Amino acid sequence: LTTFTDEARIALDTLSGRAAGLFSPSLRLGVTGLSRAGKTVFISALVHNLIHGGRLPLFEAQKSGRIARAFLEEQPDDAVPRFQYEDHVVALVNDRLWPDSTRAISELRLTIEYESASGWSRMFSSGRLSVDIVDYPGEWLLDLPLLGKSYADFSREAFEMAVLPVRMELSQEWRALSAAVDPDVDADEMTARRLAESFAAYLKACKLDERALSTLPPGRFLMPGDLEGSPALTFAPLPTLSDRRARSGSLQAMMERRYEAYKTHVVKPFFREHIARLDRQIVLIDALQALNAGPGAMADLERAVTEILACFRPGRGNFLTDFFSRRIDRILVAATKADHLHHESHDRLQAIVRRLADRAVARANFTGADVDVVAMAAVRATREGTVKQGRETLPVIIGTPLKGEKINGETFDGKTETAIFPGDLPKKADAVFDISGPDHRQSGDDPAIRFVRFRPPKLERTAEGVTLSLPHIRLDRAVQFLIGDHLA
Ligand code: GDP
Repeated sequence: LTTFTDEARIALDTLSGRAAGLFSPSLRLGVTGLSRAGKTVFISALVHNLIHGGRLPLFEAQKSGRIARAFLEEQPDDAVPRFQYEDHVVALVNDRLWPDSTRAISELRLTIEYESASGWSRMFSSGRLSVDIVDYPGEWLLDLPLLGKSYADFSREAFEMAVLPVRMELSQEWRALSAAVDPDVDADEMTARRLAESFAAYLKACKLDERALSTLPPGRFLMPGDLEGSPALTFAPLPTLSDRRARSGSLQAMMERRYEAYKTHVVKPFFREHIARLDRQIVLIDALQALNAGPGAMADLERAVTEILACFRPGRGNFLTDFFSRRIDRILVAATKADHLHHESHDRLQAIVRRLADRAVARANFTGADVDVVAMAAVRATREGTVKQGRETLPVIIGTPLKGEKINGETFDGKTETAIFPGDLPKKADAVFDISGPDHRQSGDDPAIRFVRFRPPKLERTAEGVTLSLPHIRLDRAVQFLIGDHLA
């Protein structure tokens, strides 16, 4: 799978990372998830709450008053863009708008000064922990399996997936274009470009489809980062490839070379330089969107989580973990946006995510790290209330819908608060995985949950005029699992 130099470099990076760690303890926390899962909002809320001493009762070090301060420091990696924390907080807090989502990798160093819980630890610990938060698109992570696949494998699988019933229509144009091309013709830049653009358009259409289909590689076709338009991205699968070696100078040879270049120059360095150095990982998922779309979308989400977990599986045959000793020991699978539900449903959502993660762990044959789950809202945009309807008192959530949101024919102006009855999640987690159950998108029935996009909340002020930090649901549980033990 990999050359000796790759492995040696990973080992060396790990060693130098360790050596640096001796002087200033650091923890690299990866934050990933497919696009729009809530990565940017999560990191902004996490850092804001830690810096401003937010309400985090389940975060033990803070609850027991052992945190002296938390602040941002210069990040250790000069070549990685910085996570634009300040801009995101201005958007969230001042403008009450959701910040711009993740489009590429970025990093932020948060340093925490604390007092160890025991006298023994106090003697030996520096009382300082730097958390390097690495934000990256889940789409890029899903490229890992490509490292074990030849161009012919990749092409064959792409065409097999494209003719599955859910994707058949979306892929039609690209398949028609490909069918008209003979892989053995002379290489031609314009043909390569047309095929690559059409293939990328099909992948993007899957992502935008309301059935919320999860992602297919190559990840940079969806999230190009700074590679947009480069030759490493100007390739596509070709149909009916023979086992014969491609004729030199042919279209197939050109595509094959570019596919290999994508693996060598894009996928491998990304894993070597970023993923192989992580200690902890949070995988954010938009379970509510999948729940609303029905069991087919839940199965699709489960597939994506299985593939993501498989990337972190230690053991032979994995490019990443064969040779690196600094490996991820805790992974949190987190469903965000729980503020769209009444608190009575929070435990139900968590049970559904637990079920999904358990199935993914079993399917990916995953061992080697603790996997936990949480249903949370990094930013709580709603509060709860009740509404009387006849004799019944119904639990509702109250918030300001984003400008242009429509509820029951009414279009909101972004300034008016409203109460909605969000709907219940099923009591039994298994029900949502039952493929024989209703698929709301196809049946045209009402979806399980009423999903309205609310504006971020208005921050409360204390009597002394101090603005409180961003409200959340169970963010403290996530923080405790991800970094709590390093502050013991
Ligand atoms: P990314 O692509 O993973 O970086 O996703 P973002 O963090 O930008 O989140 C995408 C969208 O999801 C945001 O614009 C919000 O509308 C919504 N969102 C994310 N987190 C929350 C949350 O905790 N509560 C609510 N109500 N909405 C959220």
